[in-house]
Parts: sequence; C-alpha cells; structure tokens
Amino acid sequence: MGNEHIFIVRCGEVALKGMNKPYFERMLVERIKKLLRKFEGVSVKRHEGLIYVRADKSLDKQAIIKEIGKVFGVASISPAVECESTMEAIGEVAVEYMRGVIEERNPKTFKVEAKRADKNFPVKSPEIGRKIGAAILKGCKVLKVDVHNPDCLLFVDVRHDKSYIFQDKIPGFGGLPLGTNGKGMTLLSGGIDSPVATWMMAKRGMLIEAVHFHSYPYTSQRAQEKVEELAGIVATYCGRYKMHIINLLPIQQQIVEHCPEEETTILVRRFMMRIAEKLAEQTACGMLITGENLGQVASQTAEALAVTDACVKMPVMRPLIAMDKVDIMDKAQEIGTYETSIQPYEDCCTVFLPKHPATKPKLDRILASEGKLDCEGLIKAALESEEIVDIYPL
Ligand code: ATP
Ligand code: MG
Repeated sequence: MGNEHIFIVRCGEVALKGMNKPYFERMLVERIKKLLRKFEGVSVKRHEGLIYVRADKSLDKQAIIKEIGKVFGVASISPAVECESTMEAIGEVAVEYMRGVIEERNPKTFKVEAKRADKNFPVKSPEIGRKIGAAILKGCKVLKVDVHNPDCLLFVDVRHDKSYIFQDKIPGFGGLPLGTNGKGMTLLSGGIDSPVATWMMAKRGMLIEAVHFHSYPYTSQRAQEKVEELAGIVATYCGRYKMHIINLLPIQQQIVEHCPEEETTILVRRFMMRIAEKLAEQTACGMLITGENLGQVASQTAEALAVTDACVKMPVMRPLIAMDKVDIMDKAQEIGTYETSIQPYEDCCTVFLPKHPATKPKLDRILASEGKLDCEGLIKAALESEEIVDIYPL
C-alpha cells in the first residue's frame, strides 16, 4: 500500500515537558535520524506532537522498527498507512488495509477506534468509527464487529492534512532523549549489573563515558574483550562513547601487602571510585554510575556502601539499588547484555578475594588502613596506566 513505509512515533514523557517540549522533541528527532542513518531513503519529521518516519518501500520494515525502538524517549511506534482526510478516502484505504490484515492474521472480528485530532473535520469520532466500520463490513465479508474483545483493533487518526490507519502500537522504552541530562562516568565490569545500570541512566537522557578496571595478567585479555563487547551492546542504545581502561593490580598488591585481609574488597572499591571520579572530572562528567545493589554482596551492605561513598564528592548514581536480582536479570535479557555477561571470565574484584570480607566496615578503620598506603601516588600511577578504547555500537 503506497510506495513508502510510514511509522508514527509517539513521544511519551517528552510530551510532558512544557516549555522545553520543542527542545526535547528536536533531540528525539535527531536521535531517530542518527539511528536510521544506516538506511538510505528515510526521512524523519515532527508534526503536531508526533514524529513521522517515512522509509522507502524496499527497506526492511522490521529492521526500522527495531532501530526506532532503541531510541530513548520513544513511547510507541505504529506502522501506518496514510490517506486524504475525507470519509471516502479513509473508507477505501481502511478496507484495503483490512484485506491485508485478513491475509496476514486471519481475524474474525474487528473494531474501529477513531480519533479526530482535527476538530474542524465535519464528522465526530464515534460517527467516523461507525461509518468506517460499516465500510469494512461491506468490503470484507468474513469479518464481524466485536466491540468488547475484537481480534483486530483498527485505529483511525484523522488529522488536518492527512489521516492515518494502523493497528499496532509497539511499545518503546520510554525515558528521555539522549543528551538531555548531562553526562555520567559509569564503572563498567563484565557482570550482569553494571551494563543494566548504565542503560538505565542513559534511558533518562544521560550521555555515557565508561571506566573498566582490570588486574592483568591475573585477569585475561579475553576478559577485557568481553567487557568491550558488553560496552558495544550498551552503545547500540546510547551511541558511541569512550571507555577508560585502568590496571588496578599495583593497587591491589599494595592493599594485600599492607592492610587487613577482610578489608581488601572495600579498600579496592574506594580506589576504583576515586579513580573514576578523577576521570569523570577530566571528561566533564557530573556523576558516577555503578551497578551496586543493596545487600547483594559483602561490599554492598548499607554500611559498606556508606564507606564507599565517603571517598568521593561526586554524586554516585546506583539505579539498581532497590531492584531484585531476578528483575535485573530480566532487564539484562531484554536489552541484550545477559548472554555476554554470564560468560565465565574473571573480574578484577575476584582476584585477591578475602575469605571473610568485612560486611560492616567502619570508616575510621578503613581510613587508618589507607594511611598505610601512598594513596595519591597509587592513584596517579593508575591514571598514568590508562588506555582509552572507542566503543562503537555493535
Ligand atoms: P556487576 O554485575 O556489575 O559486575 P557485581 O554484582 O558483580 O556487579 P561488584 O563486583 O561488587 O558487584 O561491583 C559493584 C559495582 O562496581 C559494579 O556494578 C560496577 O559498577 C563496579 N565494578 C566492579 N568491578 C568493576 C571493574 N572491574 N571495572 C569497573 N567497574 C567495576
Ligand atoms: Mg562484578
């Protein structure tokens, strides 16, 4: 039908942004354009609170829906057909559209739900629904009307210049367009949690920069490749970004040599946070992001999190803090990071793991242990070991 695919994209929360609405919508259009750049023959335009994506008929409809679905700020997507805003044209196109649906899905019953966005249109919404329903009954003899539980719900959206007919409202992730909410430095491990945490902050419009710590040669090159792969999956949603790679081994060795064994994990975590904060300052990030989750492991008890927090000034975002592990795993599945995350490669946190980590660390004791180390010097040396990798969407 027609010589192009048309997709109506709804903006969700972006629509609530009052005075800033045009700005948010512009950002959203820009993001959609960017993700669809790989296709030739696509246009993206905003009109009366909706975004219209038009694509050459030769392009893969599902592939386009998949890309638009990755854009944060998109509430839903409807592949639609367009026609003139007259009752005859709408009727004709609706019948043709339903014939296509019958071939594809074989529904027995239907209902038309009409909406008149153009209040000057001479026919009111319920009347449009009835008339178009009658035209469909006449044109598609196999169908019956069922207003309560129809097999196919057909939407008719009558607008000033054109009207649109569609049946699906494919949900997007919602959230806010990328780039509308500052930039954060995410501590990205190879685990299940931190990619999900990063994704959740990006979903609220935050640009991402990442840091990953390794303990080479205790951790392998393959472990780092796994993290780069995970980072690449996250980048399919939040675009290209930089990942800073830091060797933590010299710091871990100093801690093991000079500090009580049960404090190892918390001490290592405080170094990670301080290094991440320094990198964040250098790269104009306003906050840190971690995948920490209350009570999940010894270093994530309420006491341990407070001691971890106390070493940095920057706000630390922990979007998973109150989620259950099963829900985090579901989210990881949904965004496509899970399968990579569960590959069994070692993380720097598992190197020198204490037998009985302190679950209720006391800040004064931790400070006393750090007093035995040249913290400034160690952090400086770690930063000097930095490598930077460009992460591209996979
Ligand atoms: P994840 O599944 O994200 O690895 P986790 O449950 O294994 O988390 P920890 O290993 O205690 O928990 O790490 C807590 C958080 O610290 C991680 O979510 C991540 O933000 C950060 N982190 C841990 N290890 C690293 C690392 N090697 N590089 C960068 N950040 C890390
Ligand atoms: Mg981990």
